[in-house]
Amino acid sequence: MDCDKCGREAVMHAAYSGLHLCEDHFVASVDKRVRRRIREDDLVPSDATPENPQTWVVGLSGGKDSIVLTDILHRTFEKDPRIELVALTIHEGIEGYRDESVEACVELTDELDIRHELVTYEEEFDVRMDDVVEKDPEGMAACAYCGVFRRDLLSKYAEKYDADKLLTGHNLDDEAETALMNFLEGDVAQIAKHFDASLGSFEERESPGDSDASGGPRARGEQDDFVPRAKPLRDVPEKEVALYAHLEDLPAHITECPHASEAYRGEIQELLHGLEENHPGTRHSIMAGYEELAALAAEEFGAREEGDTDLGECDRCGASTTRNICRKCSLLDSIHAV
Ligand code: SF4
Ligand SMILES: [Zn+2]
Ligand SMILES: [Zn+2]
Repeated sequence: MDCDKCGREAVMHAAYSGLHLCEDHFVASVDKRVRRRIREDDLVPSDATPENPQTWVVGLSGGKDSIVLTDILHRTFEKDPRIELVALTIHEGIEGYRDESVEACVELTDELDIRHELVTYEEEFDVRMDDVVEKDPEGMAACAYCGVFRRDLLSKYAEKYDADKLLTGHNLDDEAETALMNFLEGDVAQIAKHFDASLGSFEERESPGDSDASGGPRARGEQDDFVPRAKPLRDVPEKEVALYAHLEDLPAHITECPHASEAYRGEIQELLHGLEENHPGTRHSIMAGYEELAALAAEEFGAREEGDTDLGECDRCGASTTRNICRKCSLLDSIHAV
């Protein structure tokens, strides 16, 4: 097949758009989608200046998604003094998995000359994920512990580096899966949280042809206690992220974590693959509708919860929490007690 734009040999066919693209036009189309998302979500605020630059912390795991995100952000903002990037890698302590992907992170950040920080569960919490899996004091899946620890470190270090935003490499498939899981679990509060945490634009603006500002898309809720997050890759399907990494020869690490255990997500993944194959464009339409509904849910829940979210500090570590001791500290207590 030939590229629909230039007639050269196509490297991909996107069933959802019907387009065949050659290598150059495919790479350009991914770059364009990511840059459009950055614009539409207003990630660069109007008051960012070369004298008052924004710091963006990028969660860099070494997998294809975060490697591609870091590469595109670097090329987009390399000559823009308003944005400073810091890549943050978290080492969970998983034998035969994380060491290799940390090497990929070091290789990429060296090549692009980006500041790179590495933090480990072992140094931070005196525990490795391999030991957590073996002890498992709460009888939970590995990812349930790991997710709490990772979120804690991302927030802690984003604050430490004075980050204005925390960016992660979630792609279209990841987001559509999360949307579907929230629906199927009937969790409207979670949908509202999802919106305020990482969907929608940062600034309120008018719809085209609409003189009433409130008629425009809803902006994110204020999140005073957390560094706001964003996912600039969320319009790009997973397969295209992988193809991009391959064509651009990026040092992405592809082995899967041996403790990966999100069984329910796996089922949803299969369901979505089947739907997408029979009805191309399903992931895009799920996200378009979900984002609108999530905005409504956020409006409702945000208003309801305002003022009564008793957010305090953990007695032990100072992290924001609604309890005396945060979830991470109580998990660590039970792990260390074994
Ligand atoms: S798959 Fe689960 S256990 Fe492995 S790194 Fe990810 S969250 Fe942690
Ligand atoms: Zn072409
Ligand atoms: Zn704590």
